[in-house]
Amino acid sequence: MIERSGGTEYGIDWDQRDDLDLEDRLTDTGYLPEDQAVENPLRPRTFSEYIGQDKVKENLKIYIEAAKSRKESLDHVLLYGPPGLGKTTLAGIVANELGVNLRITSGPAIEKPGDLAALLTNLNSGDVLFIDEVHRLPRTVEEILYPAMEDFALDIITGKGQMAASYHLPLPRFTLVGATTRAGQLSAPLRDRFGVVLRLELYSPQELGKIVTRSAQILRADIDADAALEIASRSRGTPRIANRLLKRVRDFAEVMSGGRITLNTAKIALDRMEIDELGLDASDRSMLTAIIQNYGGGPVGLETLAAAIGEEAVTIEDVNEPYLMQIGFLSRTPRGRCATASAYLHLGFPVPGKLREEQLKLEEE
Ligand code: ADP
Repeated sequence: MIERSGGTEYGIDWDQRDDLDLEDRLTDTGYLPEDQAVENPLRPRTFSEYIGQDKVKENLKIYIEAAKSRKESLDHVLLYGPPGLGKTTLAGIVANELGVNLRITSGPAIEKPGDLAALLTNLNSGDVLFIDEVHRLPRTVEEILYPAMEDFALDIITGKGQMAASYHLPLPRFTLVGATTRAGQLSAPLRDRFGVVLRLELYSPQELGKIVTRSAQILRADIDADAALEIASRSRGTPRIANRLLKRVRDFAEVMSGGRITLNTAKIALDRMEIDELGLDASDRSMLTAIIQNYGGGPVGLETLAAAIGEEAVTIEDVNEPYLMQIGFLSRTPRGRCATASAYLHLGFPVPGKLREEQLKLEEE
């Protein structure tokens, strides 16, 4: 059973995800209102419906089996990777497979120790508590989370001076599933308290193709296999984007091809949305163009780049960079970001001699 509060999905006030609160970018991996449907029918509920991330799934299955056979709660799990890759979904599947309740919240939503205490004391034995953006928990909250994770108890101090009293409150054994886009920003004491740490990878176009086909079936949309792959290969490795593009392409198909999503309709729709054949959107292109035109291809510092294109630095780091690096368009050096020869070629700029030599060397290797 999934509990929600405040009328928002799973008790999360998604508006608080301000770090990803971009303008209405189609390839934005953050939540948009249409994702908030309380029962998101596209969200897989079991491991068999969850496509890809094989290593993560295999590991989790073993830990869950072991915990079940010992009749213990599952060790705390930290999931990290770019937004939209299925961390929240996995937390739901873990709870489902364990046969326990899932309670969902996020780091910035827990403002004070009392908020966390209220959440923890309301859990049943074995329940899963999912904290999204766990790197954004306030320090005072983190401090009471340590003993809660380790000893399943809360130590609360009330009053001051002579009136001070401390309470030791035992808690039910629970499993914390923490999610973060940036494991590096987690404090060491918090990171060390997760027994299982798993990294989610961007998906291959083939995996995303399966996700698009599955989603189309659920949405009762007719889709050709090559059209599904076309949407998949423009979704920058991210299921949330794939599902969002599918919904928009379906709108075009209703008007253009009697509802059937063909390769041709998909291509026209995606081009209209200014998402190119590699999945880059206007923001990716303006970032690469700025590096090439304003900074001679780099290196350029993150903050400088963010200011140049009017984007938040965290958005560049969390949303643009993982994919641009994966497709080999961007490299990160200690001195800043650099555009690669492939990026020059893709955007139609002449490749500088130095980069061409590096590229040739890479190809020879
Ligand atoms: P995160 O918590 O990492 O930001 P979510 O778990 O909210 O991402 O996933 C975003 C959406 O993508 C989900 O609603 C779900 O429909 C879809 N999705 C994510 N991972 C998968 C997967 N492995 N298979 C199928 N659909 C997925």
